[in-house]
Amino acid sequence: MTVDPLNPDCVTVVDHPLLAHRVTALRDIGTDRDTFRQLVGEITSLLTYEALGDLGTTEVFIDTPVAKGVPARRVSENVLVVPVLRAGLGMVQAICDMVPLAEVAHVGLRRDETTLRSEIYLNRLPQRLDGRRVVVCDPMLATGGSLVQVCDLLRTRGAAEVIVLCLIASRPGLVAFGAAHPSVRLWCAAVDPELNEVGYIVPGLGDAGDRLFGPPD
Ligand code: URA
Repeated sequence: MTVDPLNPDCVTVVDHPLLAHRVTALRDIGTDRDTFRQLVGEITSLLTYEALGDLGTTEVFIDTPVAKGVPARRVSENVLVVPVLRAGLGMVQAICDMVPLAEVAHVGLRRDETTLRSEIYLNRLPQRLDGRRVVVCDPMLATGGSLVQVCDLLRTRGAAEVIVLCLIASRPGLVAFGAAHPSVRLWCAAVDPELNEVGYIVPGLGDAGDRLFGPPD
């Protein structure tokens, strides 16, 4: 018997036909950039909906055209969205469209193509994050190295809870990430089995940043 190293309490692979349909189109090499961007946004919206079912709300009383003082709920928690540059930028708008009061702080990591290790080149996080929930977004969890670094940083700044949204995660990346941050919950739309020799997820979708924004050079 093999034991699945993915902790189901921490990793949620959202399984829904509408999501699966979009992931298929996202992976397809024939999908053009505009459609790819739109799909990233739609998949992100669905993941956000799943991941934030416990978002804080307060009771308010409103008047409708036919009744006064109706008890209702408004979101009162202000989450911090942390896109991991570059590709995480493609997910930000969809999260902000879904989540009232969200604020955004960018973190940039660059991958050294020889060592495959990433280094932080931009850190716009608030100095203190005590008591706040942080939503990290990065479309592709490959080795997990950059996500581990971002979550390390968030912990040192005092984030109360960190959750991660990604579109496609590799199984080895999830295992490595779970070992480093066992209490961080992660939502994704698909888990792929492996990485190739240059660190791309297989079958994956290629370079998410390039497909969203075009090649840098
Ligand atoms: N980043 C990507 O954009 N794609 C991968 O497959 C891995 C990392």
